[in-house]
Amino acid sequence: MNKKLWIKFAYISASLLILGVFLYLISIPLTRDFLNKIENTTFDLRQNIVSKHKKTSDKIVIVDVNDASYEYIIDKYGSWPAPRVFWANLITNLEPSKPGMMIFDLLFLKRYISDGNSDLELINAVNNNKNVYVSMNLDNYPSEVRIPPKLPRTLQNSIKNDFLIKQNPDLSYSNCRPIIDEILNGTKNIGLINVQRDKDGIIRTMPPFSYYDGAYYKHLTILAGLDYLNIDNNTFTMNSNGEIVFDKNHTLPLTKEGKVILNWYGPEWSFNYVPLWKVVNAAEKNDRKFLDDNFKNKIIFIGVTANSLSDIKSTPVSYMFPGVEVQATFLNNLLDNNFIKKTGIFFNIFIALLMAVLTGFGVMKFKAPLKSVLLFFALQAGYFIISILLMGAFNIWVNLTAPFVLSILTFAIAYIVKYLITSRDYEHTYKLAVTDGLTEMYNHRYFQEQMTNNIQTAKRYNGVFSLIMVDIDFFKKFNDTYGHQSGDAVLRQVAQTIKRNIRSTDIPCRYGGEEMSVILTNTNKEDAVKTAIKICEAVRNKEFELATGDWTHVTISLGVASMPENGDTTEKLIEYADKCLYVAKRNGRNQVISDAPEDTPTE
Ligand code: GH3
Ligand code: MG
Ligand code: MG
Repeated sequence: MNKKLWIKFAYISASLLILGVFLYLISIPLTRDFLNKIENTTFDLRQNIVSKHKKTSDKIVIVDVNDASYEYIIDKYGSWPAPRVFWANLITNLEPSKPGMMIFDLLFLKRYISDGNSDLELINAVNNNKNVYVSMNLDNYPSEVRIPPKLPRTLQNSIKNDFLIKQNPDLSYSNCRPIIDEILNGTKNIGLINVQRDKDGIIRTMPPFSYYDGAYYKHLTILAGLDYLNIDNNTFTMNSNGEIVFDKNHTLPLTKEGKVILNWYGPEWSFNYVPLWKVVNAAEKNDRKFLDDNFKNKIIFIGVTANSLSDIKSTPVSYMFPGVEVQATFLNNLLDNNFIKKTGIFFNIFIALLMAVLTGFGVMKFKAPLKSVLLFFALQAGYFIISILLMGAFNIWVNLTAPFVLSILTFAIAYIVKYLITSRDYEHTYKLAVTDGLTEMYNHRYFQEQMTNNIQTAKRYNGVFSLIMVDIDFFKKFNDTYGHQSGDAVLRQVAQTIKRNIRSTDIPCRYGGEEMSVILTNTNKEDAVKTAIKICEAVRNKEFELATGDWTHVTISLGVASMPENGDTTEKLIEYADKCLYVAKRNGRNQVISDAPEDTPTE
């Protein structure tokens, strides 16, 4: 495989590996839940940042049963809940200030048998004032505990193309906590106050519609909100984007669980609050100015905030969020049309791939690791900032986890690929630097290096090693007869033959011209001579192919020198081997010589 092809192959397999790992991660429920958790945490973080710059509607005011009001009621009536006449009086005292709506985030369950008249007062107040809204609650109690009640047709809704809501079993209930019969059948201002928490206990979404006994029922805030917007409707349609469009300025963007994602306005208590006791006090003193100032044309939520009654929820912006304020937030989102919209799967995949490609590009492109690390962080930080701006300005929730995880995977795997490519590159260059092109033996420089190494090792450990010098016989004549092409071919084949007859620890080199050498590490003279004879015989017995396709024989002469007996420097050992070679040539060639008299000439 050539280098370019190999790099392409490495890139493609790395990309497939990254995608594979990523798809595997999101296919396992455990890791998918974990990634969702991280995504939700980043949502909470973004909400905490953007909510500081969001304003609640000044049309909404919360009358809350805070701790002081709770004590006030206990003092006055001796019990909680307060008798129904108390709430009836609250309604009749607020009505002259012409509030837009009074929404009770309280359940008026069942008649109190002992207190018939008090109940009647509330029934009249609720049924006779069209701007009063009360709540009920769906649940899944077994029918042995409570026979599922029939609810009035006026409360029922139908939704066309309701696939998103239908596919979430959590939005479908088998039972209902109905309120006082006379109210249930006397007003159509009754909505659900069901909330649902995420797995971590935090409320991020709200169900605008829930299903019970063959029909959909509106959430309390949807019911009141639509009335406030003069949208009087019991039939809705979900469009192909999964939205329910109420009018051109008001839309419910549903999640794939059929819920809406709340957009928070700040930490708890960011709405206008008036404690209940102050309202009661003003009513008793007939302080109309106080009541008018606070409640004229307002949407009033009435709910509990007292710690002792504890209707406290966890939300992205606070773990101590009054339940009634969750409802107020829901309504405010509807009125301001600022529910959070999640980006679609294709957009998320596109961004994740884009970020991963940029990250991988950085790793491949930059030589300095610091640069690619910086690029990685710059990309992540940049995208995080963009995600905050998108949420702040357009209420859009872009997915942060997928690009992050895919980028991390890419970063790690790209680094490994890069390492493999460079180390292969390095290996290749190194091999080129120490190899002879024609014979693919080690070159002269490497031979010198290895001689020095072996001499040093032998000296330090009192060891031995040997050197064989090889010279092809009558090669000048060979060239003259068959041509240089065939000479080269034979040279290559002689080199092959030498390599095949030595150990893997021996080092075959091209010394120069048609002379070759073998360094035999840890090998004494006797064994070196055996190897030399083996090589000599192998060449003698082999047929060599010429450039022309013909076959012929050649022979070689070999000289053997060993450390320590023939010298302890490169020069001395080469000189001794050369002398042996000279003797071999003189004695008729085609043989191995390992002993040469002192005075033998080298050439
Ligand atoms: P001897 O038996 O005494 O060694 O005779 P010889 O002809 O081989 O003598 P010598 O070793 O001095 O000759 C070297 C010749 O080898 C010279 C040159 O023609 C040939 N030769 C050296 N390097 C190469 C090479 O790379 N390719 C080819 N084809 N021939 C080479
Ligand atoms: Mg020669
Ligand atoms: Mg020769």
